[in-house]
Amino acid sequence: MSAGLNRQKWRAGVLGATGMVGQRLVKLLADHPWFELTGVAASERSTGKCYAEAARWHLEGPVPEAAAKLVVKDLEPNLDCDFVFSALDSSVAGEAEEQFARAGYPVVSNSRNHRMDPDVPLLIPEVNAAHLNCISAQRKNRGYDTGFIVTNPNCSTAGLVLVLKPLADAFGLEKLFVVTLQAVSGAGYPGVPALDALGNIVPFISGEEEKMEAEPQKLLGKWDGTRFIEAGLGISAHCNRVPVVDGHTECVSLRLKKTATIQEVREALRNFQVSDELASLPTAVRNPVVVLDDDDRPQPRKDVNTGHGMAAVVGRVRECPLLDVKLTLLSHNLVRGAAGAALLNAELLASQGYLKSGKGSVTQVADTVTR
Ligand code: NAP
Repeated sequence: MSAGLNRQKWRAGVLGATGMVGQRLVKLLADHPWFELTGVAASERSTGKCYAEAARWHLEGPVPEAAAKLVVKDLEPNLDCDFVFSALDSSVAGEAEEQFARAGYPVVSNSRNHRMDPDVPLLIPEVNAAHLNCISAQRKNRGYDTGFIVTNPNCSTAGLVLVLKPLADAFGLEKLFVVTLQAVSGAGYPGVPALDALGNIVPFISGEEEKMEAEPQKLLGKWDGTRFIEAGLGISAHCNRVPVVDGHTECVSLRLKKTATIQEVREALRNFQVSDELASLPTAVRNPVVVLDDDDRPQPRKDVNTGHGMAAVVGRVRECPLLDVKLTLLSHNLVRGAAGAALLNAELLASQGYLKSGKGSVTQVADTVTR
């Protein structure tokens, strides 16, 4: 951060704080320079317990101190915070997120329920920050006052679209074919039974192919002031669950609109940099796509935490005999594809003045933060 201003932190609540994504959020919020965790909510199984007791903690190190003693609340929209992250199971996320937004809370969601709503931004700050302009239409349509809903994409879409963005800008995209190898942590906890996952591949993830074929159209499309215009890409996705703990690998073949050499494609990916404004957000990385030259990379075990888990790692960029170019990419499903993505979205919202003033403890923030 540059020399900054003293201001109060925004107080964050986490709905679904006990789950796989919720725990990542709790951990990432523990040392966050702008946000502090002040409220957690989950199901009846957890309400009334202290967080350390309710969460079956899956991450390294102990439950962060600030979270451990918080009492887990139910989904009544009266959490003691300035905005909420939602990491709720999709069976309850849709309605709960609307109730929180209606009660005045900005909602930064990981869940699928509102991603494709015609007045809700599906956001990757490095790709389509301008889609935040639809928040005023959303408030007007739904009668929300200070509240609104912003979503991040499905975990395999997140890495894919980050890699597609510089290629779409440089050459245009016509169509693509993608095969995923998705980690078991993408299914939440307890998730895929061990007897299905170990030494095996499951060639079906319910709803995943549909999400991968639909969400990039909105992300790479445009908000024209009244509606989203889709990118109109041809996309065919095959989604598979593989016995990897964290990190979704994707094998992609692409047809470009303009002719490009493999070297030009590699350079476009390597040169993809975010603006100074975005780079100043605490969770952002300057180069969100990292290109590796070794023939046998990326690999989940070696590369999943590249850029603190916020980078998409690309390797094996080569000619495709059917389309134009093929490559392999890897991204951290729980960080880039979920908790880190939501955190970055909230930071962008804060820096652009979409979060009303925080009421938390005093901290120093960069002078790029407008309110
Ligand atoms: P998870 O481990 O199953 O956690 C689900 C959370 O929702 C838990 O905190 C659970 O609370 C809560 N919950 C379940 N039923 C509830 C109810 N009836 N009322 C209130 N709370 C309830 O799932 P996850 O993997 O963290 O995923 C959370 C969301 O993020 C899902 O919508 C998922 O699709 C999305 N997502 C996940 C990933 C990923 O890689 N895992 C990536 C992107 C998006 P209890 O602990 O009290 O049961």
